[in-house]
Amino acid sequence: MEHRSGCAFCGKELRYMDRPEELPCVFCHGLFSTQAKCVEGHFVCDTCHSLSANDLIEHFTITNTSTSPLRMAIILMKSPSVKMHGPEHHFLVPAVLLSAFYNMQGESGKKEAKIRKARQRAEKILGGFCGFYGNCGAAVGTGIFMSLMTDATPLSRKEWRLSNLMTADSLRAIAQAGGPRCCKRDSFLAILEALRFVKDEFLVEMDAGPGKVECEFHDLNKECLKAECPFYPA
Ligand SMILES: [Zn+2]
Ligand SMILES: [Zn+2]
Repeated sequence: MEHRSGCAFCGKELRYMDRPEELPCVFCHGLFSTQAKCVEGHFVCDTCHSLSANDLIEHFTITNTSTSPLRMAIILMKSPSVKMHGPEHHFLVPAVLLSAFYNMQGESGKKEAKIRKARQRAEKILGGFCGFYGNCGAAVGTGIFMSLMTDATPLSRKEWRLSNLMTADSLRAIAQAGGPRCCKRDSFLAILEALRFVKDEFLVEMDAGPGKVECEFHDLNKECLKAECPFYPA
């Protein structure tokens, strides 16, 4: 979603104030003195405003303290640098899962190195992977999450099994929802499968907030399945 003018978070109109105010950036949470905020009160700092999608995802998930991968995903998806469809979703999925998992475990110190590795791996999954290779990058993103969470390698036994099963489960859910590709629907399905998988295999209940996802992006997707998509608002 390109907000050419207006708020870089929600697209709404900007207001300019007579006096500077101290406001937190909605993406990095740093405090800045500013004379501009949107009608909803959002402020986006200059650094976050000019970051590439993957830089923003990396920075946001390393600094964020949220335990909800879906909430983090939805905030990132609202940024103008994250397009409606695009390979940045291949990194977005493992990044929000790793961040939320380690935030919840009280081990946020572990996540920075893992999120950087997730990015290196995810950047090798090209755009269009779903249709051209039969392997949606959001599903592979959950495999990357599981591999990094369990420190899997090609020689591991249990970790290898879990990483490949994770991708398989996400991919099945995504495939069964049917084409054409939607990077929002496929990312939501992949994250939901990862929450279920972590619960089944590790008996760890991750934060499922906001519960039922109501997609805010359908207007931007000309191939939206609308009522046939599980996330289309009722
Ligand atoms: Zn706004
Ligand atoms: Zn910022």
